[in-house]
Amino acid sequence: MKQITECPICKVGECKGYFGLCPVCHETDGYANAGRSHRFYCKEHKTSWCAGSNLFSSWRYQTEAEQRAIWDEIGLNYFEDVEPYIPPECTSFAADTNETPREVDTLKAGEAPF
Ligand SMILES: [Zn+2]
Ligand SMILES: [Zn+2]
Repeated sequence: MKQITECPICKVGECKGYFGLCPVCHETDGYANAGRSHRFYCKEHKTSWCAGSNLFSSWRYQTEAEQRAIWDEIGLNYFEDVEPYIPPECTSFAADTNETPREVDTLKAGEAPF
């Protein structure tokens, strides 16, 4: 059996960070779309990072104006662009496969996947 080391930040056996996590707290508050690409963010630490594009179908149902309104509401323009933390136990999803798991694809923008 594979030994899973406890993450000192999340205090759990396995942090779920397919799309990357805030490097400070290993959490994310969800994502916002920018065109076809998805930007995850942590509100507490004002960090954000790009998780790839066209992973979630939600972007198709938003107009550019709607996307901008969401960005403004979160204040994403003022967030710092960071390298996300990717748990070693998790393979980065975008790098690994282009397929999005079904449960993740049903997420709406603004919802955290984990
Ligand atoms: Zn962690
Ligand atoms: Zn954070």
